[in-house]
Amino acid sequence: MRKKLMMGNWKMNTCLKEAVELASGIKRLLKEDVFEKVSVAICPPFVYLLDVKDVLEGSDIKLGAQDAFYEASGAFTGGISAGMLKDVGCDYAIIGHSERRHIMGETDEIINKKLRACLKEGLTPVLCVGELLNQRESGQTGSVITSQVRNGLKGFSADDIRRMVVAYEPVWAIGTGKTATQAQAQEVHNMIRGLISGIAGPAVAGEMLILYGGSVKPENIKELMSAPDIDGALVGGASLKADSFEKIVKYY
Ligand code: PEP
Repeated sequence: MRKKLMMGNWKMNTCLKEAVELASGIKRLLKEDVFEKVSVAICPPFVYLLDVKDVLEGSDIKLGAQDAFYEASGAFTGGISAGMLKDVGCDYAIIGHSERRHIMGETDEIINKKLRACLKEGLTPVLCVGELLNQRESGQTGSVITSQVRNGLKGFSADDIRRMVVAYEPVWAIGTGKTATQAQAQEVHNMIRGLISGIAGPAVAGEMLILYGGSVKPENIKELMSAPDIDGALVGGASLKADSFEKIVKYY
């Protein structure tokens, strides 16, 4: 039985005061019994990681970053390495989010290198994949997801892949208020699990957490989580309010 994982992706939101207040609110609302059922992580902007880490002291809520650069150190102005993220207390890093693929121009090759850097430093990378609206409408969802998964995971062993999480985030559903139906999400999640099985074997595929992301809200979480291959959620907008994130985490 896979334990669900709920992750909040704050994106480029909050000021320092708001970040501390939001983390404090989430900590206050999520008590011990929650963590027996669900794992929880929040991913604030890089510059607030240490402050949020302080707030989370004594709680089972984990800290995640929204990206990690693939080099360990050196002349990479603006870069934040996976080792630095580990050093400040992160357990997770979101890698290949659609906003980084489509706005910052990240390729599967870059994403592959970032995944490798995360594993090397002991961070759990969350590999994000997802199709654009025109790709879905022209029947390319399967081929887009297949190539993002295959290229992202190129060169990794089954043991490496066992230490990753995958998030299916249809780009047309991110921040649009338009959620994939349970059937649409389940179909792709099942396909991803099949791909992982082909690459890393059925045991790794059976253990792998595959999160759904795209306008997850308190109103739709329960239905999404009842699909057999949906193992949690990567939540953007609705993770910016402590009470809506609480409702998502406590979907059960
Ligand atoms: C995301 O940030 O990955 C996301 C899915 O955003 P939203 O929940 O706002 O659609």
